[in-house]
Amino acid sequence: VLDGLPQQPADPLLALIGMFRADPRPDKIDLGVGVFRDDGGATPVLDAVKHAEELLLARQDSKSYLGADGDRGFVALLEPIVFGADAANPLRTGVQTPGGTGALRLGMDLLARARPDMAIWIGEPSWANHVPTAAAAQLTVRRHRFFDQVSQRLEIDAMLAGLAQARPGDALLLHGCGHNPSGATVHAADWLRIAAFVRERGLIPFVDLAYQGLAHGLEEDAAGLRILLEAAPEALVAYSCDKNFGMYRDRVGALWVQATDGDALARARSNMLSLARTFWSMPPDHGAAVVRLVLSDPLLRASWEAELAGMRDRIAGLRRAVAATEPRLAALAEQTGMFSLLPVSAAAVTALREEHGIYMAGDARINVAGLRLEDVPRFVAAVGRWLG
Ligand code: PMP
Repeated sequence: VLDGLPQQPADPLLALIGMFRADPRPDKIDLGVGVFRDDGGATPVLDAVKHAEELLLARQDSKSYLGADGDRGFVALLEPIVFGADAANPLRTGVQTPGGTGALRLGMDLLARARPDMAIWIGEPSWANHVPTAAAAQLTVRRHRFFDQVSQRLEIDAMLAGLAQARPGDALLLHGCGHNPSGATVHAADWLRIAAFVRERGLIPFVDLAYQGLAHGLEEDAAGLRILLEAAPEALVAYSCDKNFGMYRDRVGALWVQATDGDALARARSNMLSLARTFWSMPPDHGAAVVRLVLSDPLLRASWEAELAGMRDRIAGLRRAVAATEPRLAALAEQTGMFSLLPVSAAAVTALREEHGIYMAGDARINVAGLRLEDVPRFVAAVGRWLG
C-alpha cells in the first residue's frame, strides 16, 4: 500500500542547510534557518535554562504521566506574561502543547471540529507552515494581503478590503509580533483597526505569538494580542517558548482559548484534551518544566529577561547597521524580530548564494540574527547590486 503514496517535496530550508554545509568558502553566511545566533554564529542554551535544567535534574522525583494538558504550572506562569499582570479571565483556558506548531495544529483542529465549513484567513506572506497546518486540519484556507515585498510596506487597507469577503465565524490568523517572514511591525493604531474590523464582522482572531520579547519587549510584543482579545469574544492564542527561551528542539508551547461563556469554555477545553490525546497524548515535559522553573524563581527569571533583551538588542543593532549602510534597506530598521523579506528577486537569491556564499530562503527571507556585525558591509554590498 505504501507505494500508493505521492512523493512530497523536500523542505526547502533543509536543502539549504545541506548546501550551506557543503560550501567550502570560509566567509559563507547562513541567513536561512530561523534560529537566533550570537555574534559568533552559535545558538547557545540560555544560562537561565541551563540552571533550571540543573535544578530539574536534582529535584524531579518522578516521570509519571501528567495529563493531556501537560504542565499546568507552566501554563499558569505564562498567563501574566502573555495576557498582562491583571488579566485573570475565567473565560480563558490553556493547555501545554508541543511547541507553537502543536498549538497551531490543536487550535485549527478545534476550529474544524467546531465548524467544519469555516475558513481560516491567512495573510500573504506568512510562515511557510501556516497554510499546510490549516490544510492538514481540513480547514478551508483563504488569503488576504498583508505585506508588499517590493515597497516593504504593511498593507492594512488591502488586508481589510480582502477580509470584506470573510463570513462571520471565520478565523483570522495573525502574528502577534515579529512577523515571519516580513518583520513588518503592526502598530497600535493598526491593531485597533484590525480589532474593530474583527469585532464588527464577527471573526475569530487566532493569534500566533512565537517571538514574544524578541521584537520590542515582552509587554510591547503582547499589545496587539491584548487589543484583539479585548475586542473579540472568541479567540485563540498559539504560543511558542522555543525562540524566546531558546528551547527549539524541546518543543515548548501552549494554546489558549477564550470563549463567550463558561459552558462553551468547558466544552472547548474538553475538545482540546480529546484532540491532544489523539495527536500526542501528552506534550513532552522537559522544556515546559524548565520554563516553569525559570519563571517561578526571581533570579532565574531576571536572568532570562536579561538574556532575552540581549537577543533582542543584538537583532535590533544588526537591523540598524544594515539600514545605516544602505538607505534602500532602511525599512529593515523599522521591522522587528528575527526576519525580513529582502526586496530582491529569486534570481538575486541564487546569485547571492552562488557568487557570495550568502544563503537565504528562496523568497529572500533572511534571518537577521544569522549576520555577524562584521558581515554587514559585505552583505549589504552584495545585496545592494540587486536592489531597485
Ligand atoms: N509560528 C511562527 C510564526 C513561527 O515562525 C514558528 C517557528 N518558526 C512557529 C509558529 C512554531 O514554533 P515552534 O518551533 O515552537 O513549533
